[in-house]
Amino acid sequence: MTVIKVTCTKCGNTTVTPDDVTVVISNGNRHGRYVFEHCGVWIRRLADHRTVEVLRAVGCDVVTGLPGLSVISQIRQKYILEAFAAWLTEVDTIADMEASLHDT
Ligand SMILES: [Zn+2]
Repeated sequence: MTVIKVTCTKCGNTTVTPDDVTVVISNGNRHGRYVFEHCGVWIRRLADHRTVEVLRAVGCDVVTGLPGLSVISQIRQKYILEAFAAWLTEVDTIADMEASLHDT
């Protein structure tokens, strides 16, 4: 499996997988930042054009940044949408949705 060498703010040099890393490119640019979570902290690093292409080639998600939203907000939105999509696949009917909302 592909691993990506990264530096975590808390634990130093470590590795993550392409699934852990999202690349956010600035609108109209070919560079941006890559973002991953480690030790419970979101970490952002600058990514030049070459880094973006390498991360894309190994299978990292590459998204175009939305103006006015911080990189972290955009990553949070991505995970919220993924969680919502996963939830939608688990419920078949409106009644199931309502029932699962009341499960605690
Ligand atoms: Zn760490």
